[in-house]
Amino acid sequence: MTFPPMESVHSHSEIFWGDIAKDFFWKTKHAGRFLDYNFDVTKGEIFVKCMEGASTNICYNVLDHNVHERKLGDKVAFYWEGNEPGDELTVTYRELLQRVCQFANVLKSQGVKKGDRVSIYMPMVVELVVAMLACVRIGAVHSIVFAGFSAESLCERILDSQCSLLVTADGFYRGDKLINLKLLADEVPWNPEVDLCWHTLVRGASDECEPEWCESEDPLFILYTSGSTGKPKGVLHTLSGYMLYTALTFKLVFDYQPDDVYWCTADIGWITGHSYITYGPLANGATSVLFEGLPTYPDVSRMWEIVDKYHVTKFYTAPTAIRLLMKYGREPVYKRDSLKVLGTVGEPINPEAWQWYYSVVGEKRCPIVDTFWQTETGGHVLTPLPAATPMKPGSATFPFFGVVPAVLNESGEELEGASEGYLVFKQPWPGVMRTVYGNQQRFETTYFKKFPGYYVTGDGCRRDKDGYYWITGRIDDMLNVSGHLLSTAEVESALAEHEAVAEAAVVGRPHPVKGESLYCFVTLTDGVTYSRTLEAELKKQVREKIGAIATPDFIQNAPGLPKTRSGKIMRRVLRKIACDERDLGDISTLADSSVVEHLFQNRCC
Ligand code: AMP
Repeated sequence: MTFPPMESVHSHSEIFWGDIAKDFFWKTKHAGRFLDYNFDVTKGEIFVKCMEGASTNICYNVLDHNVHERKLGDKVAFYWEGNEPGDELTVTYRELLQRVCQFANVLKSQGVKKGDRVSIYMPMVVELVVAMLACVRIGAVHSIVFAGFSAESLCERILDSQCSLLVTADGFYRGDKLINLKLLADEVPWNPEVDLCWHTLVRGASDECEPEWCESEDPLFILYTSGSTGKPKGVLHTLSGYMLYTALTFKLVFDYQPDDVYWCTADIGWITGHSYITYGPLANGATSVLFEGLPTYPDVSRMWEIVDKYHVTKFYTAPTAIRLLMKYGREPVYKRDSLKVLGTVGEPINPEAWQWYYSVVGEKRCPIVDTFWQTETGGHVLTPLPAATPMKPGSATFPFFGVVPAVLNESGEELEGASEGYLVFKQPWPGVMRTVYGNQQRFETTYFKKFPGYYVTGDGCRRDKDGYYWITGRIDDMLNVSGHLLSTAEVESALAEHEAVAEAAVVGRPHPVKGESLYCFVTLTDGVTYSRTLEAELKKQVREKIGAIATPDFIQNAPGLPKTRSGKIMRRVLRKIACDERDLGDISTLADSSVVEHLFQNRCC
């Protein structure tokens, strides 16, 4: 594949994105290049700047602009479907605008100003979207923490981004389980000295609020993602590029049409919810379903009942959800004639799940868009365009416009044609992250140091003879559990903080629904004996430190861990033990092989 010279790449993207930008409102227009960047650490600081000189407000674009210029005030922005069937709400663009303005005024009355960080820890309710857009309206930066994370994870994120205010909810139901979110959030009861009630504050607030005009590269939000060293990274996204990128990817990847009803089943606490529940759909004036509940509550036909109820046309979910529903066969899947395009995201989709999604859910008439992207990429980077790209089950197919991937070998050489190696990107696109909040050095080290000149995704990939990209999985110490990345280091340190644990090592073991499950090896401190009670305590400890998503599936008592002579834990060997694979490959560096046999004999089944 050959590429045009850099100058012409710039002018192409100028024309292409310049056209897209015309659909939006700009308080001032940009001057100079559309994208300016340095992706090469050897040439200086890494940066990406998009539409410098322009000023806008995303909240204005996704609400006021839709209500006033595009005349979509009475159009439904969200059909909110609660956890209990029958709990529902319809919110139009005009109502959403009013509610956002009210809450923006509340934030201002609490002293929140442009640039301040606001943490949001909420279930999937309309107020979550209201809170995020209210921040954006006044130029504040939201940092949403998934409501499944623990108090400690929330605290770590609040401190890292120095948030001045936390928006949370008293509680909610997930299936039949009550989650006392407020208790989790501060672990103390309501305190009138610091706690304020949303409903009281909003009641007295005006529903008009002048937007704060912000610069293109002003921060929009911070979203934390697991880092391979254990401490989560605050991925920072900025205004204009992210807005254009999520708007265009949404429009093209889901072939958005004005009468569509779109449903993305992700939680807004993850990037998929940010980009493809809030920003992308609203920027297009789309109608979406916002679902609070679970796919299996009150029963396993819930998803398809919702599809039928709202006549959903475009549906976006994760392989883990598909595998979960697949277990119950085709019988619960009914009345989905409205569906037109099916999307998947979060992890490589296995062929069985793909076939089931395609034939049972989509009745072989809906194209599947397998979208590869990351918190860091802001929006889809490898993806088919529905009905336009011939599908290959399990492949995210080709790059989106403006995205230039490459496959590198261990020495950093670009491989041509059919090949396998590291997936990297050669140039930025408007929606790419700008930095790790407060830690530019970590940003550069994580993504740009290994192969200077490239953004390194951390994923391996294969490119076939037809140029299709196939993601082969993470090549760092990250696990993908139910489509969410977890760092093994983070779980290991949560385990090692328990006084009974001297050392812990965590690996992934394939799981039929979650993709990967957490298999933990723990070496206990001298004198401690392993028991079921201790195991339960360790699981609880991880849940409390990180959140329920990180709960270990298996914990094995490991009096010794396989180590190299220099003392490094051999995770490769542990992975084999977890999966009961006896072919260990080269173990010449293993210090004590008797350890391995003992672990095999006592492995958890
Ligand atoms: P996150 O930043 O938490 O959204 O996780 C991003 C990671 O999820 C990527 O680096 C991939 O490992 C994985 N991933 C996301 N979407 C896909 C996909 N369509 N195919 C394969 N892997 C995916």
